[in-house]
Amino acid sequence: MSRHLLAMRLLEPTQITEILSTAAEYKELIVGGGRVERRNEKSVGLLFFENSTRTRVSFEQASHYLGYHTVNFSGAGSSMSTGETLKDTILTLRYERLEALVMRHQASGSPVLAARYFDGPVINAGDGQHEHPTQALGDALTILERKGDIQGLRVAIVGDVEHSRVARSNAWLLHKLGAEVRFVGPRTLLPSHTGKLPGTVYYDLATGIADADVVMCLRLQRERMSDGLLSSTGEYTRMYQINRSTLRYAAAEAIVLHPGPLNRGVEVDDHIADSDSSCINDQVTNGVFVRMAVLDWVFREAKEAQLA
Ligand code: ASP
Repeated sequence: MSRHLLAMRLLEPTQITEILSTAAEYKELIVGGGRVERRNEKSVGLLFFENSTRTRVSFEQASHYLGYHTVNFSGAGSSMSTGETLKDTILTLRYERLEALVMRHQASGSPVLAARYFDGPVINAGDGQHEHPTQALGDALTILERKGDIQGLRVAIVGDVEHSRVARSNAWLLHKLGAEVRFVGPRTLLPSHTGKLPGTVYYDLATGIADADVVMCLRLQRERMSDGLLSSTGEYTRMYQINRSTLRYAAAEAIVLHPGPLNRGVEVDDHIADSDSSCINDQVTNGVFVRMAVLDWVFREAKEAQLA
């Protein structure tokens, strides 16, 4: 049986910390100018049915550092545009002998379908509004580097929670590792089922980020929004933007995260985005190392199963 990374909700805290410590080791090695020991080459399929800059490139880079070969595939220009089903596409890639699939798809839950038909590990690189587990891992490594521990931290996730897979994966991860999670934003962007996520809801920014150690901003995901959810971007900015004056409500050494792509001047102003409190560039760098660790983690299980 293959090991998959489908959702942060499904991981044990020990599995999360195992991946994070492997990622930290990889970072030390690569940043220090070292190389990963040569291993059996694997072919990793990168299936992106939605746009991506950071995630796709970081999986490419992670595979490169590990000595793996990547095969790129996007919905447009493939047989899927002729109506081929996702199931048949996955079966094709399986019988072309790809050994792992990294998949981004607009449908929540689609990686579960892929895992059913593909004979190897499947890694969710973002499924609709559901989860984006490798983003949460990169964010956690960033928080660990800056704060030393996740246990006991107050983390405020601010903005468009409704459409954010980043918010869901982060909420599960942070809760499992012992942080206090808060969701902050306008009612229309905080889903009614937020109650099922591990965290407390706040509609007022000042109260929601009060004494927070970490302020995680989310992008306004207009491509997923129906009309009427937001009266105007200007109003959102006035009420929820993280800038010098609003960040004062948070703890003195609070750090600011944003998964990108950033709408500069909307979720975060220029001053904060480019300040020392901002972890945006670290999140991008750490994305590479957690993806190395995840590839390692899914393949290690396959190897252990073969030896057993
Ligand atoms: N890049 C992240 C995602 O794919 C966040 C975003 O797009 O706002 O979910």
